[in-house]
Amino acid sequence: MPTSVHHIVEVAIPLPLEGSFHYHVPERLSQLAVAGKRVLVPFGRRKLTGYLLGDAAAAVGELKDILEVLDEEPLFTPSELEFYRWIATYYLHPLGEVIKMALPAGINLVSRYRCETAEDGTPVLREFLSGGKSVRIERFYLAVPESTARPRGKGFEILEFLAEAGESSAALLRSRFGNCSSQLNRLVALGAARLIEREVYRDPYRAERFSHDSPLPLNTDQSTAFSRISDAIASGVFAPFLLHGVTGSGKTEVYLQSIAVALTAGKSALVLVPEIALTPQLVGRFKSRFDCGIAVLHSGLSDGERFDEWRRIRRGEVAIVIGARSALFAPLKRLGVIVVDEEHEGSYKQSEGVRYNSRDLSLVRGKLASAVVVLGSATPLVTSYHAAQSGRLGYLQLPNRVRELPMPETAMLDARRHKGETFLRPLIDAIGENLDNGGQTLLFLNRRGFATYIVCQACGHVLRCPNCEVTLTYHRGKGRHVCHYCDYSIPAPSICPGCQGKEITLLGRGTERVEEEVQQLFPYARVARMDRDSTKGKGGHARVLKSLEDGSVDILIGTQMIAKGHDFPGVTLVGVVSADASLNLPDFRSSERTFQLVTQVMGRAGRGDKPGRVLVQTLAPDHYALVSAVEHDYQGFYAKEIAFREDVGYPPFAHLASLTISSVAPAQAESSAEEAAGVLRRIKRDCKLRVEILGPVTAPLGKVRGRFRWQILLKGRERSELHKLLFHFRTGYVHPSTVRLVIDVDPVEML
Ligand code: ADP
Ligand code: ZN
Repeated sequence: MPTSVHHIVEVAIPLPLEGSFHYHVPERLSQLAVAGKRVLVPFGRRKLTGYLLGDAAAAVGELKDILEVLDEEPLFTPSELEFYRWIATYYLHPLGEVIKMALPAGINLVSRYRCETAEDGTPVLREFLSGGKSVRIERFYLAVPESTARPRGKGFEILEFLAEAGESSAALLRSRFGNCSSQLNRLVALGAARLIEREVYRDPYRAERFSHDSPLPLNTDQSTAFSRISDAIASGVFAPFLLHGVTGSGKTEVYLQSIAVALTAGKSALVLVPEIALTPQLVGRFKSRFDCGIAVLHSGLSDGERFDEWRRIRRGEVAIVIGARSALFAPLKRLGVIVVDEEHEGSYKQSEGVRYNSRDLSLVRGKLASAVVVLGSATPLVTSYHAAQSGRLGYLQLPNRVRELPMPETAMLDARRHKGETFLRPLIDAIGENLDNGGQTLLFLNRRGFATYIVCQACGHVLRCPNCEVTLTYHRGKGRHVCHYCDYSIPAPSICPGCQGKEITLLGRGTERVEEEVQQLFPYARVARMDRDSTKGKGGHARVLKSLEDGSVDILIGTQMIAKGHDFPGVTLVGVVSADASLNLPDFRSSERTFQLVTQVMGRAGRGDKPGRVLVQTLAPDHYALVSAVEHDYQGFYAKEIAFREDVGYPPFAHLASLTISSVAPAQAESSAEEAAGVLRRIKRDCKLRVEILGPVTAPLGKVRGRFRWQILLKGRERSELHKLLFHFRTGYVHPSTVRLVIDVDPVEML
């Protein structure tokens, strides 16, 4: 008997399960079952979709057969799989879930061609799609040159038109000839035209027109940075850089010209930005500069649009991808350069599911692809600056603004003796003066809503969320008190729910209240607000930014949204109404975040021909984060911050991981957390690991959405030891199904 060679494959399943699984491939599927495709497999009593990772050597025990191969073409390449495996290991997450996250949501379809008869009886060749999000299909008519048919009337006109054009979409024909389906059917029946259905891309930017621009002559600092990046691109090896340039120093121009170098060398480019809805200007600059295919990926796309962009990239029709966090997984080939703009932004970290950080992973992807990585910021993470100082990142500096524009003139306003006032006198005067001079003003405040909480003067009752351990924020526009963590809300009460007293006071202030007060102070000013509430819906951000750009707004009040890299030459005054809330968060990064935020907001001032001015109101005028920001002194801030980090053993002097254990039952949350800590301590002892285990303690947000939360923080000097501890813990600790355990490697949010 001939020995049949068993075809065995390794499959990853997108479920919270360790490891991958082996299956046998039946003869009929053997040709089709190749790595990168999805397969339908029996799993327990279910049938599941898994990802075929590759062939496996003979396995022990009896194997089940795979039931179906679901894709015609592989969805990922071997090198992409290597990247996914790296992520799964590093973030301690099942590979199947990592792959699922990396692929676009709209991908759940099987595609085959099939000849069908359309409703009206015409035969069509159709790309057959089943399940999930389908692609958009449009009808096209093609002229058949060898046909001798000679229709009359409208049919003749259509045929003439088709013969000229070669082909035309049904939509275009309808717009030209009115309703013409009977003529078209006749042409098809006569063999004079052919009907095909073809998938088309949904392009959210299709309607927009972009003007053309050409590269600007670089100044000396830009040239130095550019030539180091372009040399690295030319040499085709992995090279990571930190591009540290003050606000308005022309970092984007350096990105653009570096990318041009990569494109000329036949390579592609990936540009990551914190939140693309906030950066329509940046997209515009790329579209004006480059003629090549550009894909724009952001959270506002529908699944279908996202899937369309993904296919364009996969097919090599795109040379540049711009997108937020998840664009890191764009399937670009021949990657030459990855740019991470505003590398310090916390939004590069995914806070649910696979808790990856795109900024960090850009370095991993860059290394795997032998590409150049440029991390750009005016306020680099202290860990990045530290890495640059120790030579792990190449350091490129743009210390001055372009065109010799000065940094804005700044001053700190001490609010300690004026607690009840929204604006101190010098800020009111400055706004008034700026209005008179026709300048635009930005007012920054890190809280949305009207008042931060309400309190009863008689009994001290404060309105709190029943699901979360936070106070409710009053939103006057909605007339409700809202929880910013779970969206719970109640109508604003007119009497105290505690004592029925009538003296309820709104304390603290949010953007709504500041907007109202500004309007009262300056009745003739055109005032607008930009925060999560005022920009709801598609294009909400772009609308507000546009009004600033075209000068139809004098004063814009906003949250950190207004701090992002916008370039508005008309802004000559920036007022920081309050930055204290972020300074007081129980998180070791609160100083760093505040410094970054205030510096970024300040950077919006004076980017045009008129000089800018900044006033910072605060209850903490001596805090080094604010003092350094106001003095434009990154090095001064860094020196203080790095000393603090070293003192208490935080990054870059230690690697962190946090464990959050939660349950709707408070006692169960606590006992599970204790148990988890016990397991960790045992592993640490047995394996002799140098990792500090802190906690368990109740999380700073002790209750969110009805779940009680406990935290354990792990600190390790050696990353390998921290990982070893987590690895053993994950396989060794079993928790009740009602308890949720989240492991966060390199946590960014400590609440
Ligand atoms: P950053 O990203 O560092 O904040 P930008 O790249 O947005 O700065 O540049 C600020 C402004 O300066 C933009 O309007 C840009 O077109 C302009 N700019 C950049 N480089 C130059 C240059 N070399 N000469 C003149 N203008 C420049
Ligand atoms: Zn809540």
